[in-house]
Formats: sequence, C-alpha cells, structure tokens
Amino acid sequence: MKIVMLGAPGAGKGTQAKMIAAKYEIPHISSGDIFRMNIKNGTELGKKAKEYMDQGLLVPDELTVDLVIDRLSQDDCKKGCILDGFPRTIPQAEALAAALEARGDRLDYAINVDVPDENIVARMSGRRTCTGCGATYHIIYNPSKTGDTCETCGETLILRDDDKPETVQKRLSVYHEQTQPLIDFYDGQKILKTVDGTQDMNDVFAAIVRILEA
Ligand code: ADP
Ligand code: ADP
Ligand code: ZN
Repeated sequence: MKIVMLGAPGAGKGTQAKMIAAKYEIPHISSGDIFRMNIKNGTELGKKAKEYMDQGLLVPDELTVDLVIDRLSQDDCKKGCILDGFPRTIPQAEALAAALEARGDRLDYAINVDVPDENIVARMSGRRTCTGCGATYHIIYNPSKTGDTCETCGETLILRDDDKPETVQKRLSVYHEQTQPLIDFYDGQKILKTVDGTQDMNDVFAAIVRILEA
C-alpha cells in the first residue's frame, strides 16, 4: 500500500501519517523531517534547505526529488509506505509517478486532509515539535503528558520557527499556489480521497481507515 498525504501545512498530515504507519506497519516518510534532520546535523543539504524553510518557501525540486525517491527505494518500503509532505509540486508528483512506474509500481491513494485556512493559524501556533525525534504535539488538542518534554524520547519540545504566524501565512499562500493543484492531479488519476480534517484526530483517523479498508 503506497499512500500520499495531501493537505495544507498544519492540516494534520503528520499526525495521521504516524497513526497509519503504526497500524499498517509501513514506514512514514516525511520530507520535512528529513530536511529538519539534515539541518540539525549541519549537512550541506540542511544549510541550503533552511534558507527556504525559514522563509516559508518550498525547497527547490532539485534538492527534494532525489532525496525522497532514494528513500523510497530502500527495502523497508517494499511492503508500502506513507508519504507525508511529498509531493508538494506537480513536477515532484510526476517524478514520483515515473520512479514508481519504472519498478512496476504505483500509488494506491492520495488522502486529502481538508482544513480551511481559518483553522490553520491557531493549530500551528499550538503545535510543539520534539527536537529529538520529530514527534508533534498540540498544547490544547494533543498535549504531552510530560509537559515541555517529549513523551517518547524526553527531549525538549519547541515551537518551530516556521510555525510563527507570519511564516504560516506565507506557507499557506505557497500551499494554495504550488501544492493545491495536486488535488486535481490525483483526482484525475482516480485515487483522491478527501477527509474532513476539522474533526477530532481520532475521527479523522477512523475516516481514513474506512477508506483504506473499503
Ligand atoms: P508541515 O507538516 O507543517 O506542512 P513540513 O514539515 O512538511 O511542514 O515542511 C516544512 C518545510 O520543509 C516546508 O515549508 C518546506 O520549506 C520544506 N519542505 C518539506 N517537504 C517539501 C517538499 N516536498 N518540497 C519542497 N519543500 C519541502
Ligand atoms: P501537518 O503535518 O499537516 O503539518 P500536524 O499533523 O503536524 O500537521 O498537525 C498540526 C498541529 O495540529 C499539531 O500540533 C497537531 O497536534 C494538531 N492536530 C493534528 N490533527 C488535529 C485535529 N484533528 N484536531 C486538532 N488538532 C490537530
Ligand atoms: Zn521525541
């Protein structure tokens, strides 16, 4: 099973992707997590990506496509995977389709987690991200039981620089311009499924499971 998660920044893609990955025992591949890990480790790629991420812009396709497609060719993806945050542009979606096709494979579902812009800024300002393992929490909707530290790894939770309201607005406009066209792209391929992302996260998950098991 190969699944792509679509949706605005903060729609809940990562939250749902982690739950799906756990239930179906497939890897969760987040391009944003890969970039953040590179930034943390001070790699060349991390330095380049950070310049764009801090401004709320997309990292150029040239720096993104091979990175994710290489990850997809690792053995653990043979049984399937869930892509979160990739593709984000039509050229990325085309490169993904071509790479899968080259090995006789294809995507099964593109799941669009639909949340209106009005809800996004509040969600993002409450998001807290673990500096150790990348786990995400929300100060109101999904607080860490251990307060300012991660329940899983104990590291500190932070408000990501790009989750501050000024940058969130920019990311939303970038989403509408560059990523939203993927909804029509996957609808055209008859694999698009939309869920109401404004529901409680467990209800969103139940809706996704119903789609995957239909
Ligand atoms: P969110 O989950 O809030 O949407 P991500 O962690 O997916 O955020 O992405 C954070 C940032 O990393 C993006 O704003 C963008 O700069 C960069 N990024 C992540 N994935 C991609 C991608 N597929 N293409 C280009 N840039 C990306
Ligand atoms: P994305 O990966 O799409 O950027 P996240 O999964 O990181 O989004 O979710 C953004 C923030 O909203 C996080 O703080 C998360 O805990 C919270 N969140 C996710 N799903 C829901 C939901 N259904 N209701 C309320 N808050 C949610
Ligand atoms: Zn952690």
